[in-house]
Formats: sequence, C-alpha cells, structure tokens
Amino acid sequence: MAAHNLDVANRASIRRTNLGLVLRRLSTRGARSRTQLAEDLGLPKATVSNLVNELVERNLVREGDVQRGGSVGRPRQAVELHGRTLCGLGVEISVDYARAIALDLRGETLLDQRITINAARDSDVLLDAVAELITRAIDDMRAQGVEVVGVTVAAPGEIDRDAGVVVFAANLNWSQLPVVAGLRARLAADAPPIAVGNDARLGAIAEHAIVGPVGINDLIYITGEIGVGAGIITNGQLMLGAAGYAGEVGHMPLDPDPQPCACGRRGCWETMVGLSALLRHAADPDDPVRDPDRDLEVRLAEIRTRAAVGDERTLAALDRIAHGLGLGIGLLIGVLNPQAVVLGGYFAILGDHLLATTRRVVDEHVLAPHAGGCQLLVSTLGFTSAARGAAQEALEPVFHDPGSVSAPAN
Ligand SMILES: [Zn+2]
Repeated sequence: MAAHNLDVANRASIRRTNLGLVLRRLSTRGARSRTQLAEDLGLPKATVSNLVNELVERNLVREGDVQRGGSVGRPRQAVELHGRTLCGLGVEISVDYARAIALDLRGETLLDQRITINAARDSDVLLDAVAELITRAIDDMRAQGVEVVGVTVAAPGEIDRDAGVVVFAANLNWSQLPVVAGLRARLAADAPPIAVGNDARLGAIAEHAIVGPVGINDLIYITGEIGVGAGIITNGQLMLGAAGYAGEVGHMPLDPDPQPCACGRRGCWETMVGLSALLRHAADPDDPVRDPDRDLEVRLAEIRTRAAVGDERTLAALDRIAHGLGLGIGLLIGVLNPQAVVLGGYFAILGDHLLATTRRVVDEHVLAPHAGGCQLLVSTLGFTSAARGAAQEALEPVFHDPGSVSAPAN
C-alpha cells in the first residue's frame, strides 16, 4: 500500500514537472503543434496531448491557428500560451521614481504606471507610496478580470532575498530595511505573495528575454540611474555569485579624479558615470534638469534636446560620461568576454550620443581583438527593464508548477 502511494505521488510529481516543461517551451519558442512539442520534449504524443488538455482547462494555453507543416502532411493545430487573465506585477523602486509593470503569461504589458518619488524622504513615507502604487495596480488588474499571481519588487543595492530585506542601498540611504514585511503590512490581507530582488539582476532577465531568441546568451546589462549596477547572464543563466551579490560594478574604484560616493568611499565608477555625474557636468545646480522633484524622463528629454542643438556643455558632459563608461565596460569585457553589453536606463535614452566614444574607449582597453567580439547594445526597454524582469520573475511560480494555478476564464 505504501509503495503504491509512493508510486502515485511520483507520477503526480512527474506530471507537474512536465506541465511546467510544456508551458515553458511555449513561452520561449512560441506557438507549436502537439507533435512538435512531443518531439521537442522527447515525450510520447499522447502524454503531451494530455498535458496540453490540462493546460487548456486551466486557461493557461489555448488552441491557436492552424499551422501547415511543410508541403506534405495534414495541417496541424498549434497550441499557444493563453493566460491573459494572469499577470505578474513588477515594481521598481529607484531614487527618482517607482514604476509598476504587469505582464501576462505571454509577456504582454497589461499595465505600466510610474510615480515620482523623493529618496531623501523617510523610508516609511517611501514604502507608503510604493504600497499605494501596488494596491492601485492590483485593483486595476482585478477590475479587468486579471489576477495578479505575485509581486516582485526590484530595488538597488545588496538584497537578502530569502529574508526580503534590502541589506544596503547607498542611494536610497537604506540599511537592513525589511521591504517585504514593510509592504506586506501595508497591503490588503488577500494581496498576492511578494518578494524583493536586485534591480540590475532583474533588468538583465528582461533584457535576456529580448536578445536570447537571437542567440545572445552571454551578456552584461548595465543600469544607468543615480546608481550603476550590472546583471550578468552567462550561458542563458543569471550569475548570482556565492552570496548573490555578483554585479556590484558601480563601486569599482575607477575615477582618476576621485569624488565621494554615497557608499562612503571615493572614486567609484557610479560617481563617474551615474546620472548625478551627467547632471553635474551638464548643468548648474539651479538648472531645472537637476530638480529631483521633476519627472526624470522629462529632464532627460531636455538634455537630449540640448545635445541635438549642439549645446557645448551638454556635449562635453556626454563625452565625459561616454569615456568613463568605456573604461569600466572595457574592464568587465576583459574579465567576462560577453557576447554583448546592454546599456540600460539613462544610457539607453542618450545612447546615440554615447555609443561611438564608448565603443572607441572599449576597443582601446580590451586586449582581445575587437573587444572579444562583444557588441555594445542600447536597451530597447529604457527605464522599464527592472520592473519588466521583476514581473517576469513574479510569474515564475506559474511556469514552475502550472498544476497549482487556474487562470480565471475570459
Ligand atoms: Zn561607491
């Protein structure tokens, strides 16, 4: 009897794993027939059909358009991800803003909301504002018949994910801040599970989702905000490091003219190339582009306009940033030899003014010819990478165990 129960339990567990494999395959490779799925996964076609039926019942997958598999054979009906009524909510907390993005199972954006915040405020005030943003997002989704399966918060700095604590975030002036507990206490009792992760690493996940399908599976994603960090994808996987802190590149001591950094040291890379450095070089303190209470994207648009009309101070500031970027990126390429470095945040917004100089400095500083074949790319996601990656991660439990989820019908 015990052996029989064990057998039943094993079979149930294998079935759950296989449901996840089917769902993930449809996510990474797009719509395909049951026959193709069976071939992809090395499972009998009858098994795959069974699994697909269960996923259809759970509203996670649907029968899509008819595919013709070449000139011979019967037309095959494709199955594709459905799950429009489930979403993951990603919330980035940055120095200047907080942003909430909801992605459905297919990766479509269902919601994108941003608020301006002032990091100089007390962490309680900041968490109040973020909790309000989350509550509004969950309510908006529910009003559209969409269930939020999880919330992942992307924050800068060192994060203890298991404890849900931001250990140290210099630019937010946070130390040992229990973000998950703090938000949970402010949200309704029926709010979905909440987690916290590092903004650069979550951003790298979102960037990899864009470039992975074209074969880029070794990349370094660099965030460009007040703080500068990196998320490293190697062989398609996020590199965490022994204690989960891999990618803290913003505090490499690189500046030949060392300025004090928020971390307490001097000459860190982010004091050379972070947003504060750009603004400091480009404008006087009373210039509206330096006013933290104004929307960051509006301020950056002004800098773009100044660069476009050839304002000398702006161009010199951008050139200086581009040099500093090239120096640090050259170093990272020398260590990791990635296929691509993806520039995010404000580097992406101003990429056309930075790229040529950065590329030249990179080439000068990397020993391998042509920087080891590394491409320098500008993120197409701009300031949304971290929140998108967080939303993707919030959906992970669905892919991990689809058998535990049923999407509302629509
Ligand atoms: Zn520092």
